[in-house]
Amino acid sequence: MEFRAGGVGMQVPQDNFMTVMDRMSHALEQPVGAPSASGLLRELVRSAADAVLVAQVQEEAASLRLRVLAEAGGLLSGPLEWEEAVAAVAQLVVGGFADWCAVDFLDEHGALRRLTARHAHEERSPCTGCLEAFTPERVRPSAITEVVRTGCPLLVTGLGVPGTRGLAPEAGGRESGGSFLVVPLAARHRTLGAMSFVRGPGREPFGEAERMLTEDLASRVGLAIDHARLLRESRAAEAESRRHAARLRILVDVDRLLAQAGLELPAVLDVIAHKVSEVIGDGCVLQLIREEDSTLEPVTLHHPDPEARWLLASTVHARRQRSGEGLHGGVVLGGHSVLLPDIDAEAARASEGLAEYVPYLERYGAQSLLVVPLRAQGRVVGTLGVVRDVAGGSRPYTEEDRLLLKSLGERAALAIVGARLYGAATEAVRLRDDFLSVAGHELKTPLCALRLQIQMLARLTRGEAAAPDVAERVAKAERASERLAVLVDELLDVGRISSGRLLLEREELDLAQLTREVLGRMSEAFSRSGSEVRLIVDAVPAGRWDRMRLEQVLVNLLSNAVKYGRGQPVEVRVEEGGQKGVRLVVKDHGIGIAPEDRARIFERFERAVEDKRYQGLGLGLWITREIIDAHGGSIQVHGGPGEGSTFTVTLPRG
Ligand code: ADP
Repeated sequence: MEFRAGGVGMQVPQDNFMTVMDRMSHALEQPVGAPSASGLLRELVRSAADAVLVAQVQEEAASLRLRVLAEAGGLLSGPLEWEEAVAAVAQLVVGGFADWCAVDFLDEHGALRRLTARHAHEERSPCTGCLEAFTPERVRPSAITEVVRTGCPLLVTGLGVPGTRGLAPEAGGRESGGSFLVVPLAARHRTLGAMSFVRGPGREPFGEAERMLTEDLASRVGLAIDHARLLRESRAAEAESRRHAARLRILVDVDRLLAQAGLELPAVLDVIAHKVSEVIGDGCVLQLIREEDSTLEPVTLHHPDPEARWLLASTVHARRQRSGEGLHGGVVLGGHSVLLPDIDAEAARASEGLAEYVPYLERYGAQSLLVVPLRAQGRVVGTLGVVRDVAGGSRPYTEEDRLLLKSLGERAALAIVGARLYGAATEAVRLRDDFLSVAGHELKTPLCALRLQIQMLARLTRGEAAAPDVAERVAKAERASERLAVLVDELLDVGRISSGRLLLEREELDLAQLTREVLGRMSEAFSRSGSEVRLIVDAVPAGRWDRMRLEQVLVNLLSNAVKYGRGQPVEVRVEEGGQKGVRLVVKDHGIGIAPEDRARIFERFERAVEDKRYQGLGLGLWITREIIDAHGGSIQVHGGPGEGSTFTVTLPRG
């Protein structure tokens, strides 16, 4: 048995103090003077001395073990970063417990990486000069990998002794050889790496006690690494979610601003340029592909500094780029974003695609450039580029900025396409309205002449005894010309109302009287349709209204009652509407209107009938509502399919 006081690596004998005491009591039970008794007692005294020594050594070993573990625990839970703390633990064990200690861990890619390797200080090391040769990799290259793979500790002794796997014996080296011990670093049932210890030749090889101590140590180091990783991951996740929230806030803000900008393209472009310049900075250039010649056209640009803005504008206008040409053209062709973190005039001069940026870079020094494609409906419609002054101390663009600009670009592209579609639709509507109003004016003059002639003919056929079929045909022609006149007026009203030219000429009017007049003029139409019409007046329906326009309202509502009333009775009421003014109600018992159509029939060119018998342009109710709106009133309709319709107009007295 060999013990080294103060050494942790002692060999603990099988005997222990209790066994010795048992044997001693057995000897004392022998008769005195028995031949074996004195020898037995001598042996017992020696065993007792050994046992006391063993107990002392065990106690020392236990207290040392506690000290090492306590110190290691203190280091691992102290203020040091986890890498420094683990290195300090490795340093703690070399010199006394081991001559060399290393810690390897699995990185995020699963590769084994060396965190630290400590050698004993020369004066304290019993195997100066030979430690280098005893690192585990040199002795058994796969030892650490094996421990990490299996999760089981590994102990190799007798290194350097001929016949053992490992190194050749040192010149003059001792036969006892060196030993090394590799224990896994584990936490939460996962192996995170390994901790390796070497004890040089000439020292007691590692044994069971060392294995237990190193396993305790490794479990503390494993936990510390695991905690540090969890902390790092949670900090990273927190930082990521903060970045994410900030990005989201910006995008929500941009969405809000774009919604406020509406569908007008210049306003949309202005919002994009200013917001991108503000949140990513510094300068922002938006270019769109022109349909005509597929070149990129700078459509908006912003930089907070007016001089830089001016120079940036001359930079992007210097050369119109086609797809594949220059920085922006390359982004269009490739469909990928380009990030140039740090570019100066010299580098731009040397690069073919950046020549136009040279004056800007010469004036403002190195810049960071970032350009993303504007993609909508599956195709690239332009580019969104930003430039940041890195010579002025700003940090270059990062992947984070690229992602943000890409998201902003997606929104910008959608808003631009929406605004363009809206622009095209508005233009088409304007062209149509222009055409209708020109056509209306062109038709009106010959139509007036035609109506005059027909009216004269009608008078002649009524006065003289004309053939009955001639009088009937002339009457038909008169009705058709009247209808034509109404249609032409409706077409002219489209242009007037769309361009805000519906002007009222108010005068003092009696609505009941006006209704009577219109009904009188339409009596023939009512009798032709078979509908009886009844007027009920229970108010003093006076107010200041536009006579011609109110006549138009009455004609529209009453002719619809004739057209869609299926020859059933029609009731017209003029009544008191309380504070709201006067109410005009036109009620028929005809085809009625489905609930889902009730709102849209007041829109331009909207109709709710497909039957060819009911002809019309779908303009009458729209014009009616516009006239009533202009008077500050309102119109509503009730009655479902087959139930007839009731139109209620409320008119303030004006
Ligand atoms: P038009 O009668 O020329 O189609 P209007 O603007 O006057 O145009 O009416 C729009 C639509 O409203 C009509 O096409 C019809 O479907 C519905 N409508 C209007 N008045 C009535 C009514 N009194 N009864 C049933 N449907 C009606």
